Amino acid sequence: MTSGTVVEGSVWVGELASDRPYKLLIDGEFVDAEDGQTFQCEYPFTGELWGQAPLASAGDVDRAVRAARRAFDYGWGQSKPIERATLLRRLRDLVIRDAENLGLLQVHENGKLLSEMGQTGFGLARLADFMAGLAESTHGYTSPSNLDKMVSYTLREPIGVVAAITPWNSPLGLLAWKLFPALAAGNTIVIKPSEVTPLSTLRLGELCVEAGFPRGVVNVVTGYGNPTGAALVEHPLVDKIAFTGSTATGQAIAKVAAGRTARVSLELGGKSPNIIFDDADLDLAVGGVMAGIFSASGQTCMAGSRILVQRSISDEFFDRLATRINALKLGDPLDSSSQISPVASRAQLAKVLSYIDIAKNEGAEALTGGGRADAPELANGFFVKPTIFLNVTNDARIAREEVFGPVGAVIRFDDEDDAARIANDTIYGLAGAIWTENLRRAHRMIPRVRGGTIWVNNYRIGEYTRPFGGFKQSGLGREQGIDALHEYTENKSVFIDLGNQMRF
Ligand code: NAD
Repeated sequence: MTSGTVVEGSVWVGELASDRPYKLLIDGEFVDAEDGQTFQCEYPFTGELWGQAPLASAGDVDRAVRAARRAFDYGWGQSKPIERATLLRRLRDLVIRDAENLGLLQVHENGKLLSEMGQTGFGLARLADFMAGLAESTHGYTSPSNLDKMVSYTLREPIGVVAAITPWNSPLGLLAWKLFPALAAGNTIVIKPSEVTPLSTLRLGELCVEAGFPRGVVNVVTGYGNPTGAALVEHPLVDKIAFTGSTATGQAIAKVAAGRTARVSLELGGKSPNIIFDDADLDLAVGGVMAGIFSASGQTCMAGSRILVQRSISDEFFDRLATRINALKLGDPLDSSSQISPVASRAQLAKVLSYIDIAKNEGAEALTGGGRADAPELANGFFVKPTIFLNVTNDARIAREEVFGPVGAVIRFDDEDDAARIANDTIYGLAGAIWTENLRRAHRMIPRVRGGTIWVNNYRIGEYTRPFGGFKQSGLGREQGIDALHEYTENKSVFIDLGNQMRF
């Protein structure tokens, strides 16, 4: 097995080389789209066009999938754990080397604060290291068989060709959750990043080649959901689809996959409850509400978008919350003093503003925000004022549908039963938080809130050793932790007859 060629001058320091060429990665080669088409990125802080990515056709996707199939069938599928672990650790070193640039690239793609995106490279490195360790410690099990003269054990084997389809809100983090366990388990992969954030993924593809992954093991095709993403999902040689994005797209993909029983894992939307009890540390909880709904300008699947506040403390809580929110600084994502970034695209801005109108028309009252930022220095950016709506009931659209922006809906509750009922009255089940100083209350509530992650007196904490994923329509399967590796393996049972017992 040989590795491809590294693009000359691909390591650029301190500036965004928007004029440098980005190419598809197919079968270890960096190539243009077959028909030469490209599309551009837009910087959400200024609205300027910069950087350009190849627009992969169905033909490009087919070549990438066939390359991944060959690489799996004739090499990587039988590779040694130490080979995979070594390459993952080399990749770890390269993402640490390029952490600054990977962070900057993502900021320019999706407008998130550098203070948030700048850490991505180090997060990637830790996960790569962890998955490298798991590559060498993946095992089946053996136990005494109930059958006579029979040895039996299980093996965990790679699934084959994986298609990874990712969204724009955390392009490299959410890709790493798929790429690293897929490679650690011995799969090959074709990646299709969001059309909003193609370049950071193409860059990570270059680092995979530089790390020495054999040709065809990692492939990257960039383009829109249709035709690029659809061609990948429909390809008969793809064995598994790992998807993060909206619930509607995930469900459509799962239907296509069901037609050939392809494996699917889905990380989808959320409408997570952030529950503040009257015995909470209120200042801490105010910070938790803001972190829940304003981090990444609310563009996280785990956003605490339904803020459940116990009625007895609600007025005092709203006063403290409004004071803190009104002091937030919206600004340049590269400025470390900025606290709120623009949303990621023109389309997302329109979507968020339309939900603000819907909420107002439904009778919600804006405690803070309630529209596009009006400061002249922010005029070109896709800024939405941090918005909290009061007077919301849980059947309002603003409480039921995912906005994916800095817009929270407050719902008051009376007691634990009421909080649990409202928290679970949703199609989603991704996460939730409980704010209380009462340990017994916390333990009573943890099992009552239906979600893949529950925080107590915190919000948005995660760790690469712990599984992440959704209950209900928030998803299928888990990412991170050892569970993630299992999502990329088949389980095989083996029986060896020691007694010539075959009769017919
Ligand atoms: P999206 O569903 O529109 O797109 C996600 C990806 O799917 C993109 O790469 C897109 O090009 C591709 N795609 C679209 N249609 C396709 C099709 N028919 N076939 C194949 N691929 C297709 O979502 P988005 O707007 O990029 O991301 C925002 C959504 O993602 C939010 O709803 C959010 O909740 C969700 N999200 C979930 C998680 C999680 O871990 N649960 C994390 C981040 C984002």
